[in-house]
Amino acid sequence: MKKSDAKRIQPRIQKLRAEIARLRDAYHIENAPNVTDDIYDSLTRELKMLLEDYPEFDDINAPENRIAGKPLDKFIKVKHESRMLSLNDAFSYKELQDWEKRVKKLLGGDRQVNYFCEVKFDGLAVSLVYEKGQLIRGATRGDGFVGENITQNLKTIESIPISLIGRGVNDFPDYIEVRGEAVLSKKTLEELNKKNEKEGKTLFANTRNAAAGSLRQLDPALAAERRLDFFAYDIKNLVMNGAKPKNHSVEHALLKELGFPVDPHDAICKNLKEVIVFIKKFEKIRPDFPYGTDGVVISVDNLDLQETLGIIGKAPRFMVAFKYPAERATTVVEDIIINVGRTGVLTPLAIFTPTLVAGSTVSKATLHNLDQIERLGLKIGDTVVIEKAGDVIPKVVEVLVGLRTGKEKKFKMPEFCSVCGTKIEKGDLVAYICPNKKCPAKNERYLEHFVSVFEIYELGPKILRRFKDEGLITDAADIFTLLKADIELLERFGEKSAENIIKEIESKKKIPLSRFLWALGILHVGEETARDLAEHFGTLKKLITSASLPAQTGTTLAGLSEIDSIENIGPAVLKSVTDFFNDKNNLNFIKKLEKNGVVAQKMERKKRGRFTGLNFVLTGTLSNMSREIAKEKIIGLGGKVMGSVSKNISYVVAGVDPGSKFNTAQKLGVKILSEKEFVKIL
Ligand SMILES: [Zn+2]
Repeated sequence: MKKSDAKRIQPRIQKLRAEIARLRDAYHIENAPNVTDDIYDSLTRELKMLLEDYPEFDDINAPENRIAGKPLDKFIKVKHESRMLSLNDAFSYKELQDWEKRVKKLLGGDRQVNYFCEVKFDGLAVSLVYEKGQLIRGATRGDGFVGENITQNLKTIESIPISLIGRGVNDFPDYIEVRGEAVLSKKTLEELNKKNEKEGKTLFANTRNAAAGSLRQLDPALAAERRLDFFAYDIKNLVMNGAKPKNHSVEHALLKELGFPVDPHDAICKNLKEVIVFIKKFEKIRPDFPYGTDGVVISVDNLDLQETLGIIGKAPRFMVAFKYPAERATTVVEDIIINVGRTGVLTPLAIFTPTLVAGSTVSKATLHNLDQIERLGLKIGDTVVIEKAGDVIPKVVEVLVGLRTGKEKKFKMPEFCSVCGTKIEKGDLVAYICPNKKCPAKNERYLEHFVSVFEIYELGPKILRRFKDEGLITDAADIFTLLKADIELLERFGEKSAENIIKEIESKKKIPLSRFLWALGILHVGEETARDLAEHFGTLKKLITSASLPAQTGTTLAGLSEIDSIENIGPAVLKSVTDFFNDKNNLNFIKKLEKNGVVAQKMERKKRGRFTGLNFVLTGTLSNMSREIAKEKIIGLGGKVMGSVSKNISYVVAGVDPGSKFNTAQKLGVKILSEKEFVKIL
């Protein structure tokens, strides 16, 4: 083709784009594919070829450029314009009725309330911001206030429109934030796990973990391989001409009009009875539903009533998640074996006669510790009830004692480590421990733990074992000195996979202090405790100094250590943390990590906010900030925002047209702040 054909080519490109967009919508939104994959692929191919010849017509926001992004070094943090909330759960119809009672009480009297029901997808909550119809930012939920910018990865999801134009109407909001769930289908998860197993990589426990893992890939090409989907469920910060939606159901309709897939089952219910019918109906569909779900979200449909009900803690009062009961099955415990973990703790594992629960075959489950076995009264040979809640990892919940034959055997903790032969010791709490620091089982588990906390997905258990056997690594710190040349020479590793491994390791060298501490594998220090420590000390150096203080001065542990003063940290953790940081080998290991380029990033030290212990009520319209922003500021400073005025309220912030809350505050003698006064104390 000659360049002079450009005039003829441009409209063809535009038409191809429009047709591809139409087919995409038909497929993802209407759920009625009137086209085969072949046609879609063929049109996309033609478009690609034309653009190769006529790069001047290339457009970064065009549908064919979904996977054009370059790999990133790291994700950038983004502050959400309004907080992303979580939901309170209801585990029974009774709890649902209690929720309704509270709602009705707060709204006053016997008014009729419409509820909106939608399926609760089990994926990763994300926020998408569109300005003038163009996707400008996509982010993870994070802690609700601050998430990570994953726009490039979200663009690879076909069911997310990159541009709201091209729907014929050309009538899109000036500004809109769309919230929804990025999900992976059950079928894709199965294929992904099959592939991972073959390649010796870690398997994903469920569709939610897989979706989250996929979107946190720094290379959009890798995210694209995962074939994620998206379902929209909420609108925020809407700026548009004409009337804004007054009901949550209308927001759903608007989302659909704008080109977003929404849950096809959603429905308006006139009362709780209809809600329960909805829940029962979906329960029947659920096993065959292509995506992982863990319940139904029920909300008060009217948005004004939602505003009145407000938020309590991290969750809205106007919305609740009904969780389906976990699925159960019975099976026989054929054996109980022992796993030696990364900290040397022995974990008993029940081996079952393989059985089908909630759509997948289960053959083992952790029993956690000897205490748990005794609590259950479990013997080898027992018939047990196993339960699988949301996650793929099952647990034993009950022993069916009536089915015993008398041949069942009591389980005993072994006297010697099955891997290295060292005598087992009884640790603190309920743990039994192999005390041998060089126990090979410990090392292997520790390596697996370390890479999973560092999120080095390329290094699965099989690959780690191989690297160890080949002498490429002796400990976790060696991972960071691996070279491409070391790996690509190994049999079955090509240049490409070696490059991927090195690239990923390189990109994970900087890690927040909390994760770094978690990765160290200190006895009793899991994710939560590691965060508590990191938030208290801020830097690794401060923690090490504090932890090694008692040893230097020779005084009692609890007496001097600052660690002891941290909330949630008990004597067992205190002891294991001080033991850990007083062991030269561990300090040397940390030094080696640092020498090899690992950086434990400083963390903000958690401060008690100025508003800690204060309860606020907002009423009326504020002129300088939205109510959401005001709420965030209060929460950010440690305060709480309540929905109604009582004696326990510290301040009522009154804007223009304050309404009944103002009167109640006056009656109760609660301090009232004008907007000016409020801004001043902020
Ligand atoms: Zn051992």
